[in-house]
Amino acid sequence: MWRKGRGLTRESALITAIIVFVLLAVVFPALTVKKGDSQTSNDHTTDIEFNISKLPASEQITVWIDGKLTQMHMEEYLVGVVAAEMPASYEMEALKAQAVAARTYTEYKKKHGGCSAHQGADICCDSTHCQAYITTEKMAENWGNDSAMYIQKIVSAVNETCGEMIYYDNEEIQVFFHASAGGRTENSENVYPHALPYLVGVESEGEESSSHYYGEVELSRSDFIEKMKAFSPSIKFDEQALFGHIMRFESGRVQSIEVGSEMFTGREIREIFSLNSTNFTAKEDDDNIMFSTIGFGHGVGMSQTGANAMAKEGSDYIEILTHYFTGVTVQ
Ligand SMILES: [Zn+2]
Repeated sequence: MWRKGRGLTRESALITAIIVFVLLAVVFPALTVKKGDSQTSNDHTTDIEFNISKLPASEQITVWIDGKLTQMHMEEYLVGVVAAEMPASYEMEALKAQAVAARTYTEYKKKHGGCSAHQGADICCDSTHCQAYITTEKMAENWGNDSAMYIQKIVSAVNETCGEMIYYDNEEIQVFFHASAGGRTENSENVYPHALPYLVGVESEGEESSSHYYGEVELSRSDFIEKMKAFSPSIKFDEQALFGHIMRFESGRVQSIEVGSEMFTGREIREIFSLNSTNFTAKEDDDNIMFSTIGFGHGVGMSQTGANAMAKEGSDYIEILTHYFTGVTVQ
């Protein structure tokens, strides 16, 4: 099983060929139309036919897209998800890890009641609710001249892992991922209500060069106080320092912090000031407050930046997934 997804099997090579052929035949003529005449482009923007319905690993799912329910094949859907959730410039093995993670996430949702916001949908395209997804036309818009290369790369990432998912105790896992862990991922119970044995903090090396790694938010003292009062009207400030005692998780992320007369979680402060992560330090002077952050996102599960760094160092997608999800198998 270890070798199952590696390299192009005859079947996945065939699927790739079919999908790339269909993309070239259908998508790019449609884009050409768009350039020449934006009126007609609307007739060519939807429903690219992927001829993979006869494949055993292909599965129908119901996706909430643009305000309606759309039936799609799982593998076709995953191309749009990987394109939306991870930069296409990332390493092939990182994209494959993302494809397997996205497939597992989708299957888990489907088996556990689907999208709770849209009746009848297994999943929706809202990244804050379920999982981001973009159409092939949007990909072409995003990537311009690199479209053909990137679409082919993502189709390959999906096809070379066709049907593979992440399991713990023979069950599909609950997948979490984020842009950058800032050096270490987080235990699930430090962010979400439940501890899960496969979501424990691990080292995430090689992220420092990513644009997501360091972040800053600066605001005036008066804006800071106003925002804190809007969040917690009972808060009191005296003339002393705004910040008091701070407690951190092992990962460095803020567990709790004293602001004025009250205690807040790191997650509350992150939300109030739109910080990249809860791994922050706060500095104050007479006029301003400066937050400096490390990492981007909640920190649970797979770090996408870390996955890309591992791939650059020669790890394959199974090594990446089993690093970030403890004790799992990929098959
Ligand atoms: Zn949803």
